[in-house]
Amino acid sequence: MLGESVEELFYIDNKIIRLKTNKGVHYTKTVIVCAGRGAIKPKKLDNPSVNRFEGRGVFYQVTDKWQFRGKRIMIVGGGDSALDWSLELKDIASEVILIHRRTEFRAHERTVVEVFHSPVKVMVPYEVKEASGLSKLEKVTIFNNKTGEEATFDVDALILQLGYEVDVSIFKKWGLEIVDNHIKVNGKMETNLPGVYAAGDIAYQADSVKLNLIVVGFAQAAIAVNMAKKYIDPSSSIFPGHSSEKRLI
Ligand SMILES: Cc1cc2nc3c(=O)[nH]c(=O)nc-3n(C[C@H](O)[C@H](O)[C@H](O)COP(=O)(O)OP(=O)(O)OC[C@H]3O[C@@H](n4cnc5c(N)ncnc54)[C@H](O)[C@@H]3O)c2cc1C
Repeated sequence: MLGESVEELFYIDNKIIRLKTNKGVHYTKTVIVCAGRGAIKPKKLDNPSVNRFEGRGVFYQVTDKWQFRGKRIMIVGGGDSALDWSLELKDIASEVILIHRRTEFRAHERTVVEVFHSPVKVMVPYEVKEASGLSKLEKVTIFNNKTGEEATFDVDALILQLGYEVDVSIFKKWGLEIVDNHIKVNGKMETNLPGVYAAGDIAYQADSVKLNLIVVGFAQAAIAVNMAKKYIDPSSSIFPGHSSEKRLI
């Protein structure tokens, strides 16, 4: 089922779960929640001169990178999103300026090295002071938060990648135990609700290291799937076996 958002989860008896989505209702014995960071929305800059140009040169999300072809772009942020977009747009845009309020970057080390060896103009520690223009964004003034020095650039687009506000209240309503904006699971990826598992970025294991990586999510999902099967059919083995050990004929 693609394009469906799960809104409610509740048990109609002690074995069957009813999931209500924005498009209908599904019945199941088990659920594996792989909801990433839950409902997320981009963090906004508290600067009215910037936000009045949202959609007219100011972007908090990139949905179509080709709209920046040949444009002068300023990107704000120091995490993976800001640096990944700097690299992605450097060959599409006519100019990319990356500004960050700190001198250190949170992004992956390799990406940081790539950005510094690319045509992207990096300016730290700079923050946005003001955006200006008539009907659309035309200029951005930035300031050095150590020296106060200011600089103004003619830009066509300002892309702000300041992280996300995370909302996991929906999972709380379902009765799931939440720890630090994540769904608490044990080593079997079981949540506090019978038949409900969680895997990937949304899952929190108390005695484990939290690594938000695709490979970790895959491994957790494999555990959750096999535990879910065991939950439905208690006589089955948790370990499904290796495909190389299976007799095909
Ligand atoms: C900029 C950036 C760069 C990264 N680079 C790397 C990298 O190089 N290597 C790496 O391993 N990892 C990287 N990561 C991390 C990686 O993207 C995540 O660890 C991975 O995507 C987590 O997978 P997930 O399935 O748990 O969540 P997600 O990929 O976030 O998927 C969650 C899905 O659940 C959906 N959802 C949420 N709530 C509901 C609901 N109520 N109903 C239905 N659907 C819902 C969301 O819409 C979304 O589609 C990067 C992350 C970022 C932000």
